[in-house]
Amino acid sequence: MSLRDQLIARITSQGPITIADFMAEALLHPEYGYYATRDPLGEDGDFTTSPEISQMFGELVGLSLAQSWLDQGAPTPFTLAELGPGRGTLMADILRATARVPGFHAAAQITLVEASPTLRAAQRATLSAHDIAHVDGADALPDAPLWLVANEFFDALPIRQFQRDGAGWRERSVGVRDGALSFGLSPAAPQALLDHRLDDTSDEQVVELCPTAAPILSAIAARIQTRGGAALIIDYGDWRSLGDTFQALQNHQPVNPLADPGNADLTAHVDFEALCAAAGPIAHSRVTPQGIFLERLGITARAQALAKKLDGPALEAHIAAHRRLTHPEEMGNLFKVLGLFPDHAAPPPGLEQ
Ligand code: SAH
Repeated sequence: MSLRDQLIARITSQGPITIADFMAEALLHPEYGYYATRDPLGEDGDFTTSPEISQMFGELVGLSLAQSWLDQGAPTPFTLAELGPGRGTLMADILRATARVPGFHAAAQITLVEASPTLRAAQRATLSAHDIAHVDGADALPDAPLWLVANEFFDALPIRQFQRDGAGWRERSVGVRDGALSFGLSPAAPQALLDHRLDDTSDEQVVELCPTAAPILSAIAARIQTRGGAALIIDYGDWRSLGDTFQALQNHQPVNPLADPGNADLTAHVDFEALCAAAGPIAHSRVTPQGIFLERLGITARAQALAKKLDGPALEAHIAAHRRLTHPEEMGNLFKVLGLFPDHAAPPPGLEQ
């Protein structure tokens, strides 16, 4: 039975489910979940991420992390971690770019947080030259100094959606109508977690919450604050989320998120204010557009150096990739970078407090 039919049967007998429950099933169901069953990345997949567009992205992220590690006295050993590493491309580029940073590789214990067995295998293949460890969640990261990156990880975590109704909120749910999955609304109720949004929303506006992000942020922040380190969180979204950003992509095209659970990528924009709140008292950078972050780290000089070795279609593809990563009308502005670091330390290069 398809995941869609299983969900229809469950909802018909037990009632509507939250969007978060729907997303969790569609993305991570062990047998039918989107990430559990495939490698979704790249031209032949459903979406393309920055590390898959150009090696420059991971190289510059790697140099920012390594400089931050040097700035904090190069603690040894430390955890070099990534959340949701996809094919392992970003970590491979980080490791290549940092190979000549004295002591960095020898001190780094590479730890990858990955839920999908298929993608764990892809990461092991990409990173076969390195010792890596996989863990199930951020709470299992070692109790050690931590330098961490997460690109397009938080947008894949399940969200709940609430529609404003007077002083209360109606949660959007997934039910069944005419034999198909369809959106519904629960009765209005107060929501303590959304009290701060009563000031900046009006009736019928939608606000999103990501319940699983907070424990991940507190686990990371606790290590960074007590042991040292930094996190670079890169994703699409803004300081405060407003409106319905729940979306599905299949073959690089937007599709109805309820149409084919398990076979489309589901995401929502990241609410960076909520991530900072969950990180608690540790310092955070300004939320910085990806294009600005990469320009500050010298992407134009790196692009020119790489261009010298290219010609023809390869050179054109390289120029297009540089533009795609940085231009405000492409990924340069939609994607944001947030840095987390101890309150006595400087932000990682590319970011400002
Ligand atoms: N960072 C990669 C891949 C982004 S896709 C890149 O930039 O190319 C999202 C990644 O997060 C995938 O590796 C997916 O399997 C993983 N993932 C999604 N939800 C997860 C969860 N709850 N726990 C661990 N990994 C998760």
